[in-house]
Amino acid sequence: MSGCSSVLTGLRKKFYCGKAASNFVAWTPLNDGRRFSKCSMPEEKKCSYWEWEDDELSPRIIELICKLKKDKDSLRHEKNILRRRMVDLENYVAEGIEKVKENDDLKKKVADLENLLAVDVGLIQKLKDKVFKQWIVIGISWCCFVGLISSWIM
Ligand SMILES: [Zn+2]
Repeated sequence: MSGCSSVLTGLRKKFYCGKAASNFVAWTPLNDGRRFSKCSMPEEKKCSYWEWEDDELSPRIIELICKLKKDKDSLRHEKNILRRRMVDLENYVAEGIEKVKENDDLKKKVADLENLLAVDVGLIQKLKDKVFKQWIVIGISWCCFVGLISSWIM
């Protein structure tokens, strides 16, 4: 470590350059998940301190971490697909509920129209009966009038 040595203070190392080290995790194929720390100063001011926190990983561990990462990516992909499907299903259900409401409104309107029609049919029948009775009165009156005229003439 040129220009910067380190001491362990708790879980974080401090350097004589005055700043605590920042901890990182490597995600390169040979060091997947291996932790390291380096100086936390900005690029132009930082010392050259850089150190692995974990021992070198065995090929089996690297293989396992790689597999777990692939599984995680796959699960994340599935989760995104499921999330999109869930949004689609929510929209579909919302549209269905809206259509059911519209259907209920239409049924109410049809029922109202049927009630109005029933009232109209009743009214029409009453008017027909009234007109029929008036025609009978007119017919009887006409017969009486014709009978009266004919008896007056004879
Ligand atoms: Zn430093």
